[in-house]
Formats: sequence, structure tokens, C-alpha cells
Amino acid sequence: MSNFAQRVLSLAPEGAYFVLEKAKSLESEGRSIIHLEIGQPDFPTFDNISKAGISAIENGHTRYTPSAGNINLRKVIAEDAGKRRNTEFDPSQVVVGPGAKPALFFPTLALVEPGDEVIYPDPGFPTYKAMIEVAGGIPVPLPLYEELDFSFDIEELTHLVGRKTRLIILNSPSNPTGGVLHMEVLEHVAKIALENDLWVLSDEIYSRLIYDKPAPSIVNFPGMAERTVICDGFSKTFAMTGWRLGFGIMPIALAERVSLLQTHSIGCTADFTQIAGLEAILGPQMQVDAIVQEYKDRRDLLVSGLNGIFGIRCREPKGAFYVFPNISELGISSEEFANILLEKAGVALLPGTSFGKYGEGYLRLCFANSQENLFEATHRLAEIVETII
Ligand code: PLP
Repeated sequence: MSNFAQRVLSLAPEGAYFVLEKAKSLESEGRSIIHLEIGQPDFPTFDNISKAGISAIENGHTRYTPSAGNINLRKVIAEDAGKRRNTEFDPSQVVVGPGAKPALFFPTLALVEPGDEVIYPDPGFPTYKAMIEVAGGIPVPLPLYEELDFSFDIEELTHLVGRKTRLIILNSPSNPTGGVLHMEVLEHVAKIALENDLWVLSDEIYSRLIYDKPAPSIVNFPGMAERTVICDGFSKTFAMTGWRLGFGIMPIALAERVSLLQTHSIGCTADFTQIAGLEAILGPQMQVDAIVQEYKDRRDLLVSGLNGIFGIRCREPKGAFYVFPNISELGISSEEFANILLEKAGVALLPGTSFGKYGEGYLRLCFANSQENLFEATHRLAEIVETII
């Protein structure tokens, strides 16, 4: 039987998991593999956070919680997220979920009618296209350009907005490019959203991993708080990918709908995970600062290593933990090159096309790995490039 509903037919695996599986199988044959494919911190969850989670389990916090999360966590998130964005949020605007993904998926289900168009960044996080299609919407890719530091062209965005447009998705700092959207760009997007009565879903999960200056949020522009959903979470900032903890911040009426979607799907987020999340926000933040500094050093090492390889040029990402080098001068497709690198050099990374068609000519490397491994990876890459030019 394969008479499945239309909404699941175009779902495809995330490139990162696919490459990880292939890399693991090579590793099991005894090959040395450097993992730069999956986007997760290589640090363990900070000790104080783990301890808070363990003691929560020991103290019986293993039962259901309200669907939108415990009120004390929602309050703390509202206050912290508001302070970091120079604004104020009400706790009832906050919906806590298992990871940040629910804060992308459920608001999209709540906002997009079948046939509505949704504009999303390409190259971009693969979940965007998937969730738009599951909601019955029409995904409209918005190309990002290297020469614009992986921002988009406002004129082009203006042309893509039409009668059927319902939602614009932004991601800054970006996965996979590390690009950060500037104030002026956001101002234009806000103007377009207000003029055309659109919603904006702003994925800010990398907002604490920044190397230059803070990434501005579109929610700050006049009139935008009523039409913006912020998606954020604990996975990247606090090295908590497996705990599953994230949140959305949105207008209260939408938060109520999203919370009902959660009631009838995931139910709620694990109580002990939420208690660990409280410790993450309220506990010391030095570890986050130290990690950001370490990522910055790794970024510098990797960017300079890649720029030293003939035929490769790499921009300096301003946030997140990815570099997105251009390999188009090598005259080989991204996918082919990524395969060769894995099979011949034992470097696991992703072709830019894992993030959409505008990712052709690029690779994505995650630099949440040791400086030693990053150095070795660039060395192996340089050797392979020599064999193909
Ligand atoms: N948004 C972006 C841009 C991401 O890169 C990721 C994870 O890779 C997520 C959302 C999802 O985060 P989580 O693992 O907390 O669901």
C-alpha cells in the first residue's frame, strides 16, 4: 500500500542525516572521518543544566505539563527574550515546545491555507519548504546572494510578493550561510509585510551565536509585533540538541491556536527538560560567551584555510556555526564534490543543494568541531582539489 496523503509525498530527508548515516557506515569500516555535516555543538550540555535536569527527574518532575509549557518558564523566556531584543513580551505570547522546530511547523499550520504562497530563503533550512508543503502552501524560494553577504535583493522580494502571499520566512543568523540580515533589509521587509498584510516567521535560533554585533530582529519595527512569530530555542546556545527544548513568541491569539495544535499532537514538553531550561536561562552565562569565542577562533581558522585553497573562496560568516564556501570555479557540482570529499578524503560535509537549488556551487561545513580537526579537514580538502584541477 502506498496511497498516502498528498501532503507527505514531497517530504524528503534532511541532507545532514543522510550524509551522517553514510559517514558512520564508512567509519564502521575503519575509515577516519571528520564530521562537519551535522549542525550541533560538539560541547556537552553545561554541567549546571544537566544537573538541574537530573535532579528534576529524581524529584518526580516526569509528568505532563501544560501544552504551552510551565508558566514559570514562559515568564522567564518572555523576560529574557524581550531584554535581548530591546522589547517586552507577555508570557502568554510564549509557546514552549520540544525543540525549535514546533515553533516553525505549528505557526505555519496555523497561518497557511492551501494555495497560499510562502516566501522562504534559498539556500535555507530544509524544514521551511517541508512545513509549507505539509500545510498545503506553495513554497516560493527567495534567493540569497553571496555578493550581498548572503542577504537577498529587496527588489526581488517585492516582485515575489503577490495576491496569494501569506507569510515571509526569515532566518538570521542563517543556516546554512552564517549571514546576518541588516537593519535596513529588515526595515524593507517590515514595510512590505505591513503594506501587504503579511505574517513574518523569524527564525532566530542562532541569535546568541554572533561574532560581530547583535543580529537585529524584525519584531522591533513599528507594527511588526502583531504579525511576527519568533522561533528560538536552547539547542544551539546551550548545547541541548537532544533535550528537545525551544519556543515561539507570537501574538497571544495565535499562541492560543498553536498551543491547541500542540495539545493534540505532541501534548507537551518534558517537565524535567523545561526545568533544565530554566537553569539555562537563569544560571551563569559565561559558558555561552566562552563557546562563542571558541567558535569565532574556529571560524577564523576555517575561513582562512579555505581561502588558501585554489578555486575556493569563502566569506566570513557573521553568526551561527557554518561556513558556505563557493566552489563553482572547480567546475564540479556541489553534490559530486561532497561525495568525493567523503569517500576519498573522509571529510563529511553537505552540498549547498541540500538547502535548495540556489545552493549549487557551494558547500556547507559546520565548524562545531575541534581546531585540530578543522585544520586537518582543510588540509584534506586542499589535497583533493589538487587532484581535480
Ligand atoms: N532553525 C534552524 C535554522 C536550524 O538550523 C535548526 C536546527 O538545526 C532548527 C531551527 C531546529 O532546532 P531544534 O533542534 O531546536 O528543533
